[in-house]
Amino acid sequence: MSRFNQILFGNVDFEASEEHLEFQYRFLCIVILVGAVLTALLVAGSHSQVNKINPLHVRSMSIFTVGSVAFWLALRGRKHWFLRVGWAYELFCMLEYVSALYYVSEDEFRVVWFLTNIPGVYLLLGQRVGLVITLATAIGLVIGNPYLPAPYSPNAVATLLCSVIYLGLFFHFYSSRSISYFLRMRESNKQLYELAMHDQLTGVLNGRAYYQVCDKMILLAQRSGAPYSVLFIDLDHFKTVNDTYGHAAGDLVLQTAARCVADKLRKSDSLGRIGGEEFSVFLPDTPVDSAVQIAEKIRRAIAALEIPIEADVRVKISASIGVAGRQGNVQTLKDIQQQADSAMYEAKRGGRNRVSCFGGALAA
Ligand code: GH3
Ligand code: MG
Ligand code: MG
Repeated sequence: MSRFNQILFGNVDFEASEEHLEFQYRFLCIVILVGAVLTALLVAGSHSQVNKINPLHVRSMSIFTVGSVAFWLALRGRKHWFLRVGWAYELFCMLEYVSALYYVSEDEFRVVWFLTNIPGVYLLLGQRVGLVITLATAIGLVIGNPYLPAPYSPNAVATLLCSVIYLGLFFHFYSSRSISYFLRMRESNKQLYELAMHDQLTGVLNGRAYYQVCDKMILLAQRSGAPYSVLFIDLDHFKTVNDTYGHAAGDLVLQTAARCVADKLRKSDSLGRIGGEEFSVFLPDTPVDSAVQIAEKIRRAIAALEIPIEADVRVKISASIGVAGRQGNVQTLKDIQQQADSAMYEAKRGGRNRVSCFGGALAA
């Protein structure tokens, strides 16, 4: 976050799912500050005789300026206060507009702030509040006009009423459309992201996403000096499963095996399907001897599976697992994956259904 943003909005983080709130929060901060600066300029203009304004309204503008800064300070860094501050600020603004309407009789345009207020309410506080404020503005102007020191002509009130209702209706329909569009966009973006990152059959990360995620974790580990390890899991004689029971049964076996591996991992570990019946696991903060133990747990869990293919047919499978750990500082996932790969072939050569560690066979 830049220094300027930090001053304006404070220390505040938004989740990816809070992008609408983030927009509203930032927008409200800016609206409050711009309002404060504008009224401060009008107060200064009146004091320096550039634009003389009724002293009673100058007092109200001074209160508005100071109050606005207080609202900004209350909101800054507290996203969960957004609605409370938004509501209170809207009511505060209404009082300020009424003060202008009552005290600045010589200004025919003083009523314009009621109109500029409406779009902001729809954007910041939503459709229902927008509608309430629009109706309150229309009714308030009609009822209050005769009590003003300088009332507007019936003609001007009719024009005002039409424009308030027009603006209200316009933003009412616009905001309902744009919010539902926004929500649908967010949902379909989420679905696209899931599709792009995950393997359709097993639901684990696909090869591309897995490599991306791991490269980031390797960079982090290199900065902190933490250990990490990689497992390369290849199902044994998987072709036989396909040949004996059919491709659909093979798919079911792959799904079950992937779920079985995922069940044995921590939340911070990553699992990717990097080939037909080949999976890779990245274990952050894990030295190679712990990784071997995890691999052994996975191997045993896979070997214990009895996957029901048909009513009375259960398939048993096994896996060969290669393990490689971080060595030195300049490793990419590709390097360490190659080492895990050659350890896995070592396990295959050793008779399958076993774990082998790069640099020396460890377990049977
Ligand atoms: P090994 O013990 O040496 O690993 O033998 P294997 O039969 O597992 O090895 P091989 O690489 O010869 O066979 C992998 C098989 O995986 C071949 C392919 O038909 C099958 N396969 C790859 N992707 C899928 C898939 O998405 N679904 C199914 N059902 N089978 C797949
Ligand atoms: Mg293979
Ligand atoms: Mg295989």
